[in-house]
This record gives sequence, structure tokens and C-alpha cells, in this order.
Amino acid sequence: MNNQKNPMQDDIFDNKILCKKCGKQMNKKKISKNGFTIRAMVCSNSKCHSKIIHPIDKQEYEKYIDLKNKEFKVKMRLVGNSYAVSIPKEIVSFMNEQRKMMDEMVKLCFEDFGRLSLKFKELREKTRK
Ligand SMILES: [Zn+2]
Repeated sequence: MNNQKNPMQDDIFDNKILCKKCGKQMNKKKISKNGFTIRAMVCSNSKCHSKIIHPIDKQEYEKYIDLKNKEFKVKMRLVGNSYAVSIPKEIVSFMNEQRKMMDEMVKLCFEDFGRLSLKFKELREKTRK
């Protein structure tokens, strides 16, 4: 049905998509979910609540939820006068992939007793064309 173009360049959402429930045209929309922006197609018929999540974004979102629900056990090491913990590479790589974040400075807060938080630089939204 399609020619052999790279699916990343030839975005399926650039096609005219008709709702399979009611046959009306679907419109592009960005949905925000847990701080994650997902591309979707939403039915233009207001009575019909059909929507299609972009398959690439869906995969990324699932990966994100998966990481979010994971608990990592990391060890504290004394390095000079500080303690160091390792941040699992898969978390940092995922953030890098998503946000093109390269800053190595993070903010650390003593949030609560028994809890520290790390804040990565506030990031601009990933730009998509
Ligand atoms: Zn519909």
C-alpha cells in the first residue's frame, strides 16, 4: 500500500485518516499525558470519541511508564567529601532521547526526610515537524 520510504520521514499522520467508527475525518492533536506530549488523531465528530495514538509516541510513552514504575537499587559510595550514587543509564539515555538534554548539572534537594530529589534542567519541548 505504501512505498518503501522510511516511516520516520514519511509520517503516517500526514495522511488523511477517517474514523473507522463514524467515517468522519480525524484531526491531528497533541495530548499531554504525565508530562509527555503524544501525537494523536482525534475524530472531528464531537459525539464520537475515537482517537488514535501515534504508534511511535505510544511506544515511547510505554517505555516511559515502564521506567517510571521501575525501582532501582543503587549503592552510595563515599567520594572525597560527598556521597555518590549512580543514576541508571537507561533513565538518562531515555531523557536524552526525548529531550535532547545534555546538561550535566542537576539540582538536588533534600525534599523530605528520607527523600532526595534530583531536578534536571527545565526542558523545552521536543520539537516535531
Ligand atoms: Zn468518529
